[in-house]
Amino acid sequence: MAQESASLTRMERLQRLLEISKVISSTLDLQRLLQTIVDLATEVTHSEAASILLYDSNIQQLKFAATPSFQEDGFDHLIVPIKFSTAGWVFTNRRPVVIHEAADDPRVYREVDRALNFQTRSILAVPMMIKNEPIGVIEAVNKLNQGHYTEDDLEFLETLAAQAAICIENARLLRNLQIANAEFKRLDRMKSDFIAITSHELRTPLGLILGHVTYLKEIASPEYDEQVEAITRSAMRLKSIIEDLSAIAHKERGDSRIHRTEFSMSDLVREAVNRFSIDASEKQIDLKTQIPRKGSLKVEADQEKLDTALSHILRNALNFTDPGGKVRVEVTRVADHVRVIVSDTGIGIPCDDLPHVFDRFFQVEAHLTRKHGGMGLGLSIAKEMVEMHGGQIWCESDEGSGSTFSFDIPVEAKQAEAAAKVFKMD
Ligand code: ADP
Repeated sequence: MAQESASLTRMERLQRLLEISKVISSTLDLQRLLQTIVDLATEVTHSEAASILLYDSNIQQLKFAATPSFQEDGFDHLIVPIKFSTAGWVFTNRRPVVIHEAADDPRVYREVDRALNFQTRSILAVPMMIKNEPIGVIEAVNKLNQGHYTEDDLEFLETLAAQAAICIENARLLRNLQIANAEFKRLDRMKSDFIAITSHELRTPLGLILGHVTYLKEIASPEYDEQVEAITRSAMRLKSIIEDLSAIAHKERGDSRIHRTEFSMSDLVREAVNRFSIDASEKQIDLKTQIPRKGSLKVEADQEKLDTALSHILRNALNFTDPGGKVRVEVTRVADHVRVIVSDTGIGIPCDDLPHVFDRFFQVEAHLTRKHGGMGLGLSIAKEMVEMHGGQIWCESDEGSGSTFSFDIPVEAKQAEAAAKVFKMD
């Protein structure tokens, strides 16, 4: 039972409030916080006991969330109805209540006293509100020394109620955040598994299709050339989708590694551009390059990965540029990096979408209504491959007049590895 002691001075009450604020900011243990608040309410309002009741929306009644330290048992199954109880009245009317003579007051719910073998003589109860909505009630009962609750008691309990409401809201937000985070992780794992399984399972049938189509090409009469060619093109398209998915699966498993060799970026870019020259001329796009001499601009890097990154950028430049347009490819040395620049006179990218073009599965056009093929993976893969080298990739674009994609690759492996480490730490 609370020690009978002289009432606290205003200064002492303020000190207690300061203490509780410190406890609130130093722990996320809601139960401990609420218990501290209840103990403080008892002490400062000079009461025999105090408690916190929270509204349970499932049963639409109030339940005890924190109870007097001297009587922890017996509250577990106690429910306080919204109708015909002091706490219920305070909750519904969103107003505090002071009852000096509980014995005569019809608002007092007698079941709690009966269950706990307690006698309520006086009550001070205030609502706990969050964003103007009541979430529960904090009550102090039985002012000691036959005293009456004062304005000061009310003011103090209201301040405590506000603190308690913040604690409860924080705990709820934290709990919701944890639940959402766990769900997010579960979905992310499912997505990663789906990508890994899909890319793996599609490889075998695709291998068979490609094998048989090669055989068909040899034995089928020329009148079937067009059909065989269509199957080959579609199978190759599937192959590149599966390769994109595998690249992501490798990256997510953390087993994507760089295999460095020394090679000429000028040569790599020239060869990549050559591969796309037929597509460009078929689409009547003027594909021009500005590449230093053969064998120049040597880098120590993963040739295959950089070729993949560049291919994605080149494919997009051709895809998103209309016939009659231009695509320019340039390689140059900038300080200790080699820079590759691909610019086009295509449809461009809206300003709002620019920050997202390197996100996985991002496409400017809606997936289902878009004119262009693709899965929104190419640029995210290009970004990963460039960044694995400690390089940087970026895009500038004017909607309606074209885009420029550029990436920098450090020339030396040592410098690249240091940059890649810094990037990982970020
Ligand atoms: P996708 O395989 O769908 O092309 P990417 O990751 O390569 O996916 O590109 C993402 C999106 O960025 C594209 O769907 C397109 O909307 C936009 N985009 C990429 N490159 C260009 C470009 N050169 N011109 C205009 N839009 C582009």
